[in-house]
Amino acid sequence: MTCARSIRVRGIVQGVGFRPFVFRLAATHGLTGWVLNDGDGVRIHAEGRDDALTSFILELEGHPPPAARVESVEVSPAEVSGFEQFQIIDSVLRDRPTARISPDLPVCEACLAELFEPTERRHGYPYITCTNCGPRFSIVLGLPYDRPRTTMWNWRMCVSCSGEYRDPADRRFHAQPLACGDCGPHYLFRDGARTVAGDEAAITEAVGALRAGRIVAIKGLGGYHLACDAALGEAVALLRTRKFRKDRPFAVMASDVGVARAAVVLSPEAEVLLTSRQRPIVLAPARNELRGVSPENLDLGVMLPYTPLHHLLFARGAPDLLVMTSANHSSEPIAYRDDDALDRLSGIADAFLVGERPIARRIDDSVATVGALGPVVLRRARGYAPSSVARLPTTHPILALGADLKNTITLVVDGEAVMSQHVGDLEHHDAYVAFEETIRDLMVMHDVTHDDLGVVHDLHPQYASTSYALTLPCRQRRAVQHHRAHVASVLAERGELEKRVIGVVFDGTGYGDDGTIWGGEFFAGSVLGGFRRVAHLRAAVLPGGDAAARWPVQAAAGFLAGVDGLPDLTAPPFGFPERYFAARRLVDSSVRTFRTTSVGRLFDTVAALLGFTREVTFEGQAAIWLEQLARRAGAAELYTVPFAGAELDFLPALLAIVEDRRRGRGVAEIARAFHRGLARGIADAVVALCEEEATDTAVVSGGVFQNDLLLADVAAYLGSTPIHLWTNREVPPNDGGISLGQAALWLEGSGR
Ligand code: ZN
Ligand code: ZN
Ligand code: FE
Repeated sequence: MTCARSIRVRGIVQGVGFRPFVFRLAATHGLTGWVLNDGDGVRIHAEGRDDALTSFILELEGHPPPAARVESVEVSPAEVSGFEQFQIIDSVLRDRPTARISPDLPVCEACLAELFEPTERRHGYPYITCTNCGPRFSIVLGLPYDRPRTTMWNWRMCVSCSGEYRDPADRRFHAQPLACGDCGPHYLFRDGARTVAGDEAAITEAVGALRAGRIVAIKGLGGYHLACDAALGEAVALLRTRKFRKDRPFAVMASDVGVARAAVVLSPEAEVLLTSRQRPIVLAPARNELRGVSPENLDLGVMLPYTPLHHLLFARGAPDLLVMTSANHSSEPIAYRDDDALDRLSGIADAFLVGERPIARRIDDSVATVGALGPVVLRRARGYAPSSVARLPTTHPILALGADLKNTITLVVDGEAVMSQHVGDLEHHDAYVAFEETIRDLMVMHDVTHDDLGVVHDLHPQYASTSYALTLPCRQRRAVQHHRAHVASVLAERGELEKRVIGVVFDGTGYGDDGTIWGGEFFAGSVLGGFRRVAHLRAAVLPGGDAAARWPVQAAAGFLAGVDGLPDLTAPPFGFPERYFAARRLVDSSVRTFRTTSVGRLFDTVAALLGFTREVTFEGQAAIWLEQLARRAGAAELYTVPFAGAELDFLPALLAIVEDRRRGRGVAEIARAFHRGLARGIADAVVALCEEEATDTAVVSGGVFQNDLLLADVAAYLGSTPIHLWTNREVPPNDGGISLGQAALWLEGSGR
């Protein structure tokens, strides 16, 4: 007997080959009916024998196309209409497109095989793609996702390509960026006034330049990279000089997993991350030092090729480990427009490998690592964004603007919290422009209007994102305290909105309820019930405002203020520069000093005492230096960081460190003992607070917990207690996760 089912599939199911997959699946099960894309995803009407329908649905759920992300499959009985065949029906547009656009995908195995098969039409073609792979978000100009609304609108498909595009049985059916060497975009090579056209010739030239130790700007998916041979110290040093990037580590691209394994120690979990479809940069312990690539750092960031062009470069003889860093001057956003890139990068790159396909929006490489509590995304961008990171039950859309550093945006629509790509530090003009574009982008893509919108921003009155929020037309506006947003980010991604926890948030800077700089905070509560600050780091003073974050010795002047009998820190072994005295004078006269509970500055202080007395050149540098130092030491007994009276007291540890240093104890050992002591202090505080608040779970977040040694120590101490320890996984523990936490705290007060 013939039955019929109506099936609704939601998630990332458009632009990923879902309809041809349904078409082929229906054919194998002898079903008739239709499939179509609409504003909510994919709708299917299927008719046939009951058992055939059942196995059809099982396979639909169990083995969707590789690029699809099925969020739900709803099946309901339907009237039999007596269809004679199964068809793909053209897109139906509705008022609000809630179907999600897929993040960019790495080139698939099938396309790679064709790329290197001389008899194939697209042999050697750097823009080869199909419905299972290739660019998505980086080429989308509007929704629904169709070729005229991508940056490929200007290329007309040839007869062969459009044949594949129209054939439901073909892997390239409705592949929007579809092209071939005859009809699509190409790469060209530019070296001064010389231009080499033709993909093969251009790639060969670029390979030659890289092998000769030159720096080549290469256009990728979401922007330009600056590339050079990672094994050539001179080339790497030159890149640093030209890029004004003194110490911050560069990422490398390994030609394949084998080369990656030889460069870094890859745990099985790290290898899963490295080869995942997101293809992030994975931070892992380096096996050998590559001169200048990752200075003073035991870790190295490695990624694998993800575009056909990358594979072609390696196959044509590029060095098998390339520095691949975002093409920009230090800390500006990645360059992605050709004229802009050629202009801005002319002083850095010796030559350019330029692709003709425009990039719709800039997207950086993502960064991930396997930490003490499992894999965690540290920078959420290419391959991850945009995508839903949590479900938040709201009826109205919510726009959360994030923090000013490492900014991301989260938009909640129909209960899905969609997080943007990493935007960057809003103090840079280009990042601020990207911030505005990203907001507009998310609003347009999800067809959200201002009069319906709830806007959440940071409590900091001087944040650029706060000023922006205040000018944004909306239905309602709310400020959320920075560190509460950090705690909420962890709970939101786990869907634990009612769970009562102790939240521990350690970072560099956040604006507190009392207008002082917070950064060592303990909270009790839940997302729906709100978070009470129940304890914090002992407060210190910080002289000189912003400069205190750049000069560890300046933070030291504040954190060591009021200590009697301190030795002269400008003398050996400390050797602090003059700046330290100037900072001390500010502290002593209480001029331009600020109260703070920042653990970031505490790390700076310890780093200064152990030898990091220069200016930092990137955020968190001194703290990373201290962690690296500690990793070089074996077991060391700990410094006491007592928790009493709702305060975690760092002073005894600092005094002991000063004393040990004078006595000549090794700096690595001191650094290790400091980590252990602080972790012990955190664990003691958590145990006490969990008991007081009658909860069994602690949440840690904030940039300081990117320090894996500290996290591992805390986990080890809590391991002997019944307390569960949670941290971020999908969104960064640094300020990149703030926007999700803000969005979640919109719900505060709406629950029990
Ligand atoms: Zn493919
Ligand atoms: Zn073609
Ligand atoms: Fe923060």
